[in-house]
Amino acid sequence: MQKLAKDTLTARGADYFEPRTGAVSVPIFQSATFRHPGQGQSTGFDYSRCANPTRTAVENTLALLEGGRYGLAFASGMGAISALVKIFKPGSHIIVSEDLYGGTYRLFTRYYEMYGFSFSYIDTSDFSCIESAYTTKTKALFIETPSNPMMKVTDIQRCADFIHSKGGILITDNTFSTPCFQNPLALGSDIVVHSGTKYLEGHNDTLSGFLVHSHDEYEQELRDAQMSEGAVLSPFDSWLTLRGIKTLSVRMEKHEANARAAAHWLRQHPKVEKVFYTGFSDHPQYELSRKQTRGDSGMVSFYVKETAFIRSILERVKLVLFAESLGGVESLITYPWEQTHTSIPEEMRLRAGVTTRLLRFSAGIENADDIIADLEQAMA
Ligand SMILES: *Cc1c(COP(=O)(O)O)cnc(C)c1O
Repeated sequence: MQKLAKDTLTARGADYFEPRTGAVSVPIFQSATFRHPGQGQSTGFDYSRCANPTRTAVENTLALLEGGRYGLAFASGMGAISALVKIFKPGSHIIVSEDLYGGTYRLFTRYYEMYGFSFSYIDTSDFSCIESAYTTKTKALFIETPSNPMMKVTDIQRCADFIHSKGGILITDNTFSTPCFQNPLALGSDIVVHSGTKYLEGHNDTLSGFLVHSHDEYEQELRDAQMSEGAVLSPFDSWLTLRGIKTLSVRMEKHEANARAAAHWLRQHPKVEKVFYTGFSDHPQYELSRKQTRGDSGMVSFYVKETAFIRSILERVKLVLFAESLGGVESLITYPWEQTHTSIPEEMRLRAGVTTRLLRFSAGIENADDIIADLEQAMA
């Protein structure tokens, strides 16, 4: 068949239909175990912690969308990241974007430091910081781009070239851009991480996490970690994620258009000091962003002029919901200082720009004028 475009791939996934019945929606194989045809024989499925057909379908779809050979599905983004650390030995040092999802920071510092790993949190959008953080123990670079919540953009290709020249690997959290807008593997990244809870599933109703890569040498280790730890995506949640992905490319267009409208509107608001949005031509890494991504996702962060405004905005929004998370059809507003990033030490939050005046907005797919009217009344 011809090479298919991204919107075809998202709409159809890896499995066009189920071969036995012709069902056009992959069935939910709600089975914990599978009958063996005979001694020493397997259908390819034995026990659902190891593999389940619905999960395999979503894993193959993610691999297809990211252009990787292998996809692994987990019960959450954190489950995926935790399994990923198992390819490294204690004593390994990992350089991490300082401006990242708070849960990733908590997992690394609170747990993996205890097991002998070390992490340096730096501004990866500034390449000189990466070079200075590198040590002979560094085995990987873990980046989020655009970063959460400050929308800093890190040069994926340059990071890949650097860490490969040192024998390490590049891991990219692609949650914000999704495979519709950015393909880190094509830019040299070794492993892509997703919180599928966000745009991929897209309806604020299901948790999931993914790893995608093309390294034969890591595949068995990652599968073993997935199976041994057991944070696997359930058949039903695999199906929900498959269903969400079918509309991913149309949703991303609307998320992007709504975020663009909100970003421009916020920028001229008298109570707003600064807006962080990758689609502004004066964003510090705008050129890089045009080069490595095809869209701006639905995320916008902004500083209000006074901390005192925060409470009234959060309590007065009606259509926009004050809640954690992002990437769903409903517009959400989050206060990173007290929510997503609260487990990061205060001094590090402030260094990254996550202050008491920062709000993060996830544009849903409602009508842009309705979203702005709601923000307008909440900020009046
Ligand atoms: C939400 C999120 C995670 C964690 O994913 P969960 O599905 O909540 O476990 C990781 N990285 C980023 C960028 C996220 O937004």
